[in-house]
Amino acid sequence: MVVLLLAAAGIVALASGDLLDAAAIVAVLLLNATLGFLTDLPARRALEALSTLQVARASVMRDAQPREIDARGLVPGDVIVLEAGQAVPADARLLSATELSTIEAALTGESLPVRKDAARTLTPDVPLPDRQTMVFQGMSVATGRASAVVVATGRDTEIGRIGALAAAVPPRRTLLERRLDTLGRRLALAAIGVAIIVALQGWLRGMPVGTLLAAAIALAVAAVPEGLPAVVTVAMAAGVRRMVRRRALIRRLAAVESLGSATVICTDKTGTLTTGEMTATVLALPGGREITITGAGIGASGALIEKGSPVDSRADPQVEAALRIAVLANRASLGTGAMTAHGDPTEIALLVAARKAAHDHQVDAARSLEIGEVPFSSERMFMATFRRDGTRTRVFIKGAPGRILDRCNRVLTSDREEALDHDVRQQLAETRDGLTSRGLRVLAVATGVVTAATEQEIRDLVFVGFFGLTDPPTPGVRETIASVRDAGIRTVMLTGDHRRTAEVIARDLGVLAGTATVLDGRELAALPADALAGAVGRAGVFSRISPEDKLKIVAALQASGEVVAMLGDGVNDAAALRQADIGVAMGRRGSDVAREAADLVLEDDRLETVAAAIEEGRVIFDNIRKFVFYLFSCNLAEVLVFLGAGAAGWPLPLRPLQILWLNLVTDTFPALALAFEPGEPDVMSRPPRHPGTALLSGRMARLALGYAVVICLCSLAAFGWGLSWWPGDPAHATTLTFATLALAQVFHLGNARSLGPVVTRGRTLANPSAIGALVLVVLLQWLALSWRPLAGVLRTEALDPTDWAVVLGLSLVPAILGQGLKTWKTLRKRVSRS
Ligand code: ADP
Ligand code: MG
Repeated sequence: MVVLLLAAAGIVALASGDLLDAAAIVAVLLLNATLGFLTDLPARRALEALSTLQVARASVMRDAQPREIDARGLVPGDVIVLEAGQAVPADARLLSATELSTIEAALTGESLPVRKDAARTLTPDVPLPDRQTMVFQGMSVATGRASAVVVATGRDTEIGRIGALAAAVPPRRTLLERRLDTLGRRLALAAIGVAIIVALQGWLRGMPVGTLLAAAIALAVAAVPEGLPAVVTVAMAAGVRRMVRRRALIRRLAAVESLGSATVICTDKTGTLTTGEMTATVLALPGGREITITGAGIGASGALIEKGSPVDSRADPQVEAALRIAVLANRASLGTGAMTAHGDPTEIALLVAARKAAHDHQVDAARSLEIGEVPFSSERMFMATFRRDGTRTRVFIKGAPGRILDRCNRVLTSDREEALDHDVRQQLAETRDGLTSRGLRVLAVATGVVTAATEQEIRDLVFVGFFGLTDPPTPGVRETIASVRDAGIRTVMLTGDHRRTAEVIARDLGVLAGTATVLDGRELAALPADALAGAVGRAGVFSRISPEDKLKIVAALQASGEVVAMLGDGVNDAAALRQADIGVAMGRRGSDVAREAADLVLEDDRLETVAAAIEEGRVIFDNIRKFVFYLFSCNLAEVLVFLGAGAAGWPLPLRPLQILWLNLVTDTFPALALAFEPGEPDVMSRPPRHPGTALLSGRMARLALGYAVVICLCSLAAFGWGLSWWPGDPAHATTLTFATLALAQVFHLGNARSLGPVVTRGRTLANPSAIGALVLVVLLQWLALSWRPLAGVLRTEALDPTDWAVVLGLSLVPAILGQGLKTWKTLRKRVSRS
């Protein structure tokens, strides 16, 4: 579009024999293209680099212990361990697999998880999708666990061979970019309309057609803010870089925009609101016994105390049984060093408890007798292992109390097994409620003999006890929740935990405030479709929910107009992460699958980082609006100068090349500088922006028009003064207009930089780029008037001191007016507040 217009301008100039103008137009065209390229390219590069920042990790066996390493360090022959949620880091042959299924969509296009089996024997000609004994890089583990030996890495893998890894992801246009396009198109149409009016006006007054055409085309070019797309990219890149510094990695640019309008943050509890560094503090046993476990944290030492005296766990069959299950129904491991541990925090906490009772010895040996397992999943809410016990098979199981008690028919009391009748169930429920209302996460442990090592056969068990685990709130999380509430954003907690546990913690953290309710997974399922959105909207806590519920909750919130940021870490969270407006994955704890589905990855798994990202998202959007406002007012001023001069019956106030210079050279740097403007003081204390909000609101458009009129009047004043003071020298008058317009625009930058006055302590120098742009443009403008070669091309004349005084005086008016107005407004606001 712009290129076409410019080319047309060039041809017209050429046709009217104006070789110099034609050459200059081409030069400006090239300059603008290079400038756009130079600013756009590094910004795009920086943005692209972000998506590769997350290095894949692999769990590899070293000295019989699993170790996390950078996946690039794998070599064929390494034995890797795979768990649900991980991306397969290399091609590998399965050694053992439990309930392993993988998502292979990236490799085979198959969308459902595929079952794997280490024990099958396959013929060499089996096609890739049917090689059940293999896992390939690019797949991710949906369920189960496995160990496998690496056979190929890097370019030798199947996916490496396909070259799919190298295939560039097609860039997606964001809503913002599309909206900018629309804005640009509308302005272009308006500009062409104005250009035609100006040309007609001149033609009626008998001005030479060639000059008029060139001016009209230049005007049309001037009115279109062609620098806008490049400036938007720069603003995005600058903002995204600020986010990285605050530990939030953006994976999809479109999310930047949604971030600024987020209204709800859905977060899980464990590990985000709480530290996830769990400690088992209580062991409650049937018969009303309660044992306190002292010492907090992984490395702590401690003891088991009952009624003030230490418990001899070996001589106590109940305690002994409970700790045994805690250790055996467990996949975690404690390192030899006191502070190292590997695995699920809940399970680590149980191992630490067992160590305090000196019960963790020979964990590996004990586990080696294992003949099967049912891995933990958030749907199941339990995990179990099977062991040979003489000729029989025994199961060790731990998990959510309800799920475990459903499978029990007896309980272990101090010396024998008793029937789990109604009264005992009642008592146990009370014990559990007592623990949950203290905010503890409760896990039940049970054991029993089964006929086969399968999930269906786990029944008729003996209930052994409850472990109560605390998970302290993450430091600072209360403050974060309060501060995002000030920003008009609700924090909603989603947890698999029991209702009471969840409620206690939510109240403590300030998640549950006012009239917010707790909605249980079961209640959620029972809700009729038409009541769903309302009930979900009122809830501050969702307890006992499964990953599928998360998808439902996110969709229900969106249906009631919320813009949802959803935090997730598990494989099963991927769908909800995709559904959410902003999917946020945990960088540390999160599974590879979740990270891949997410728009934003938190390097430190902290809620605070989400708040920081939202803040930066708002700042980016503000800055985009600021330079749209700035460019709009400047371009409008240029157009108005032409219309005004025409109305006054004056000659053309600017030469075509001068318009291009103003628009492509002097406007661009101040606009770019606005991309680096720090946030407004109130960014996080005002409500979220409605997603439909126009880039330039009606109020801002009117304000921009106001400034444009002032800038235009000042420039015309300069022109009028020039015409009457230097009669017979129109070039001198245009030079005066040109200089006034250029300087007025760059001084006007201060009006666009912030809502409040920019001439305050802390604000003026807060954006060095703005100062830089100011100096640069003043310098360039001075060159345009005083450096002969450039002045020759732009047809400017040297100004004398009086001229300069007029130019400076007039060009400072919009800035002084704007700053005065803003200062007055802030003062008035301050007065009315006090
Ligand atoms: P959350 O998001 O609150 O961590 P999860 O989906 O991880 O919820 O866990 C749901 C429930 O499953 C927990 O409340 C707990 O009862 C049980 N649970 C959690 N982790 C384990 C585990 N490693 N083994 C057995 N049961 C577990
Ligand atoms: Mg969990």
